This record gives sequence, structure tokens and C-alpha cells, in this order.
Amino acid sequence: MNAPISSVKGIGEQKAKLFEKLDLCSLSDMLWFLPRAYCDYSKLTPVMALEHGQTAAARVTLSSEPKSAYPRKGFSIVTCNAMDETGSLQLVWYNQPYRRNSLKNGSTMLVMGRVDREKGLRFINPELSTALEPPGILPVYPLVAGLNQRLMRLAAKAALAACGQLKETLPEGFRRKYSLAEINFALQNAHFPEDDGSLERARERLFFEEALMFTLSLKLKRFEREAESGIPFKISEAEIARFISHMPFALTKPQERALDEIAADMRAGKPMNRILQGDVGSGKTVLALFVLYVAKLNGYQAALMAPTEILALQHEKSVLEFFKEDDVLLLRGGLPNKARQEALAKIASGEKRVIIGTHSLLQKDIEFENLGAVVADEQHRFGVRQRAAIAQKGAKTDVLIMSATPIPRTLSLVLYGDLDVSVLNGMPPGRQRVKTYFVPTSKRADMYDFLAKRLAAGEQAYIVCPLVEQSDEIPAISAKELYDELRTGPLNGRAIALLHGKQKASDKQAVLDAFSSGECEALVSTSVVEVGVNVPNATIMIIEDADRFGLAQLHQLRGRVGRGVKPSSCFLLSRAESDSTIERISYLTQTNDGFEIAQRDLELRGPGEFLGTRQHGESEYKLLSGAGMDTIKRAMDAANALFEGGADVNEREALVKLARAYYQSRVGEIALN
Ligand code: ADP
Ligand code: MG
Repeated sequence: MNAPISSVKGIGEQKAKLFEKLDLCSLSDMLWFLPRAYCDYSKLTPVMALEHGQTAAARVTLSSEPKSAYPRKGFSIVTCNAMDETGSLQLVWYNQPYRRNSLKNGSTMLVMGRVDREKGLRFINPELSTALEPPGILPVYPLVAGLNQRLMRLAAKAALAACGQLKETLPEGFRRKYSLAEINFALQNAHFPEDDGSLERARERLFFEEALMFTLSLKLKRFEREAESGIPFKISEAEIARFISHMPFALTKPQERALDEIAADMRAGKPMNRILQGDVGSGKTVLALFVLYVAKLNGYQAALMAPTEILALQHEKSVLEFFKEDDVLLLRGGLPNKARQEALAKIASGEKRVIIGTHSLLQKDIEFENLGAVVADEQHRFGVRQRAAIAQKGAKTDVLIMSATPIPRTLSLVLYGDLDVSVLNGMPPGRQRVKTYFVPTSKRADMYDFLAKRLAAGEQAYIVCPLVEQSDEIPAISAKELYDELRTGPLNGRAIALLHGKQKASDKQAVLDAFSSGECEALVSTSVVEVGVNVPNATIMIIEDADRFGLAQLHQLRGRVGRGVKPSSCFLLSRAESDSTIERISYLTQTNDGFEIAQRDLELRGPGEFLGTRQHGESEYKLLSGAGMDTIKRAMDAANALFEGGADVNEREALVKLARAYYQSRVGEIALN
């Protein structure tokens, strides 16, 4: 089972390297790597009945010699005619010149693939088989360049063969109660289904089990933490009032409520484990400051972590408005060794009380004198693993995680099953709705006119592109390209600057400073501005190729404007032509409510959008992200039922043991780089 992928006959070391890009190192990894789709080749379709866009299998006889053409360098086309009793068609392969060798006039074979009727009836890049019987339902796996479905299927077959008979781990009675298929059946049929029904039962079993283990393990974690003793921080009502009076505004009702919840947590004798969910601009920073304030008042150190250095710098500003400079340390990345050692010494000795940094603050070499509380901003990138790492930093540490990614409630119950949740719904007063427009290509020039006028009137703008540099593979505009275009074109003579993640930190900072001070009027950037930049004078957000972003992300980007008193606008551009894409993006023109937008994302694209692969390297939700919301809910109910009266004790014990092992394997080595 732990044999490497390269042990499969037909897969060499080089191909195995490509499997590794998909996190597939051993046969066991392959076993749990589920197809993203299936092609139903269980029935043959007569040529006459083939429909445009359909994926189908047909048995045909080749009726011409194959032809190769090379219309330009690095581009080849192989074509061949074929027919059955009902009609004729053409087979076409792009950039697969070797196909020619397997095609012989007069031979009969199976062709399987996508049917196209745009230029006559054709199969585009079909698979071929000399076995004439339909192969059944075939799996379609996610790929990387250089791999193909044939190799993936080969590896999956080998994995299934190597694993032999697995021991069923779910208790028999439990399986019956929830109609869950047996494990060997499930794995076999999830890869190579016998029929539609088996496929459905197979996937349901695997997703259900994953969702159950996920929720159950977080639930256990929660029980554990509730039993731990934490620091009973002292904070009087007078001190709270003093804190609030230091703020330049009155707290909103949701802020007050969250502050009460946090104060209660911190006073309690068990560690706080709370997530504060609030849309961009809802005012989470006050609550972060409050946690730091309480910890410091009680003689403890406190840490504030951000996912990016830019955001850490922003936080430093907020913190310095409230705390004495001598107490505060911003631990920057990329410090020369000596400077870093000096900074670390100040943290370890307790000289510095409030420490700000990226999540690199969790690294092993950073020791605190007495860390009492941790605030992690923009939970986006803090998954279960990171949460576990925070908890390890100081045994009794209070933890507040802040998330600007609104997640539908149903889903947050799952994802944050180990946490208490506070929600900031509603914005500080005076905040106005950001007017949002979908801009067709024909209106681009008008938009730039408008933009130039606003800049001339002293306002500022963000222009966000999906890419840093132009790419041959992705048809989207890059920040560098657009920057050059605008500088020499529509925004000629205006002060504009370029910002992207590949710049040096000091360059980025210089650009941001210039933008903050107003010296720079328009910022052309990638989505690095998604988090943390706060320039109230910015009133315009332009997002190019908006269809490349998720709704929640677009919403977050939009939140960068509308922070001041002037009316703000957001322009969404897209070259997409499909109605559904335009409709999806246009939803943002109708609402400004992040939780509604998240709910919409959930309905349109399923939970995978929230659990999914967007954050590279965060694989903890890999399997879960395939599950539907129904399955997730059913699994949650099952997890809850285990702790209700009348639950089967043996069943519970068996499942608890599994869930602990599951959690261990997920969190086991807390690798934070
Ligand atoms: P978040 O971190 O949730 O995106 P911030 O904490 O940065 O939001 O707050 C956004 C803006 O709103 C800041 O300029 C902040 O000063 C302001 N703000 C926060 N709370 C209030 C309030 N209760 N009344 C008025 N303005 C507020
Ligand atoms: Mg914030």
C-alpha cells in the first residue's frame, strides 16, 4: 500500500514526479484520490444519434488512411474518417501526432470522447480501444500537464489491487442505520463503478465518512478544550469603559455583543477559542485590540497574526494608536539574522508585550515569556492545522480568530465545529453601499473617462487583475500589462503605481505608503490588496476578468472602497460570454451583504468553493470538498446523535477512536513554513 506510484508497471520515475504534483506519492494516496467526474461508456451510441457536446462511445470502422497536418510550428492535427451502419464521422486529435500509428484503414475500434457537431460530426481527441465491448463507466481524474487519464486509471487499478481486502472500520450497526456501503465496495466503485447506483452509494459512503470524521474530530477537540484550564483574566466594567472611550467612535451593537462574548470568554477559567466572523469593514480590529488590551492589562504578552506582511503593517498602525511604542514589536520577515535574533530576544525576555507578525509567529524558534492571548486575523488561511499550532504555542492561551470570509452558517458549524462563533452582522454607521456595475467591453472607454475624472477630483482607485504577468495559458489581463497600457493611455499624466506579490517587501511598502498618503492616485495590482489595505479616500474599485475570482473574493475586494465619506463604485469586467458566468458576477450588483453572497456561492457551486483548493497547500478539505451539503448535514447529525441519550456506547467508542486517529493524521506534523 505504501509502495510508490513508480512501482506501477508502465509508470516510470518521471511520470511519478508528475503524480507528486497532485500529492500522490504512494498507492494508498491514489486509493483516496477520487475522480472529479465519470464518463459513461457503458452503452454504445449509433453514429447517427451522437449529439453535440455529449460524451459518448461508438463502435466504428475506419474508412480512410489517417492524415497528419502541421499548420504551424508546435501544432499538429491527426484526422481519420470512420463510420458505422448509421452514419459517418471524423476523428480529430490535436497535438497527439503518435495517434496516427494506431489507425489502420478498415479496422474496427471503440472511440470514446467528446462529440462535436460544429464542423460536421467529429470526435475531438477521443480515446481508442481495440476491445470492442463498452468499457463501462470510466473515472476522470484531476490532471496536471504531462499526465493523462490512461495513466491515472492505471495507477488507480494498481492501487485497488494492492490494497486487497481492507478491514471495514465503521461499525456494522452504524452502517446499517445510515445505509452506508461497505468500504471495499465503496473504493472499488468510486474508481470503477459497476453502474450509476453503485457509484452513488460508493461516493456517499466515502464522503459521509469523511464528513463524519471531520465533524466528530472537531467536536472531540472542543470537548477537550472545554475541560482544560485557562487564564482567568480580570477585566472590570470600568476598564472596559475606558477601552471603549479610547476609540474614536461608539461601538456598533454587533461589536458590543462580540465584545461581551469575548470578555466572558477571557474571564472564564478555560481557554477562549472563538472565531469572529465579520464582513470587510465591519470593524473587527476593535475587538482584536480589546483582546490585546485585556492580556496586557493582566501582565501577559499578546500576539496579533496576519496572513500577509502588508496586513501586519496595517495592524501595527492600529495597535500603535492604542499602545505605547516601547511595548510593541512588529516582527518582519526577511530580517538579517542578527536583527532577527535581537527581536526574538525581546519577545523571549518579555520586554515586548504586544507582538505583531505573520503566521510565522508560530514558528518553533519564537519563544514568548508569557503569551496569554493570540489574535489571528483573516482566518482565510488558518485551517484546522494552523488552529492546532496556535493552541500549542501556549498551553492556556486564549485564541481569537478573525475571518473576513463570510461563510454560510450551515457550513461554519462544520468548519468551525471546535470553536465558538461571534458574528459582526451590520456595518458601522455612515457606511454607504458601494454601487456595483457590470461593464461590457463596449463601455470600457467610458469607464476610464469616469475614472480619470474622479482621480482629477482627488479621489483614488484600485485596479485589480488576476495575473501578475501575461500568460499564454490563461486568457486574462495581467497587472504589468494593464499598468503599461494605462500609464501611456487613458491615465497618462496621472500618478499610478504597480503592486504585486512578487515585489520585494520594501518596494511593496513604498507603493502602499504612496497610495496611503495620496501621492499615488491609482494602484494597479493583483489581489494582494484583497486583505488589509485601508485607504478611505479610495472610491473606485475596478476588477478585470472578474469571472476569474470567486464571489466571496470579489466581495472582499470590493470592500476596499466605500470606507470613507464619499460615494464609491465598483466595476466588474469580464470577457466571459456565457450567460451563467455573467449572471454569477452580476449578482454582486444586487447585494452588498457578504453572508448572502456566501450563501449564493454555496448554492451555485456547492461547499467545495469554501473548502476547496483555492488555498494552495491546504489539503485538509480535499475529500470533504467533494461532498454535497446534504451529506455533510447528515454526517453532522450522526455525530451529534452519538452523544445523545440512548446512543450505542460501543458504536460511539469505536467512532471516537477513529476520529482521534483521523485528527492526528491531519494535524500530526504541524508543518508551517
Ligand atoms: P475589518 O477589519 O472588519 O475589515 P476595520 O476594523 O478595519 O474592519 O474597520 C473598518 C473601518 O471602520 C475603520 O476605518 C474603522 O476605524 C471604522 N470603524 C470600526 N468600527 C466603527 C464604529 N463602531 N463606528 C464607526 N466607524 C467604525
Ligand atoms: Mg481587518
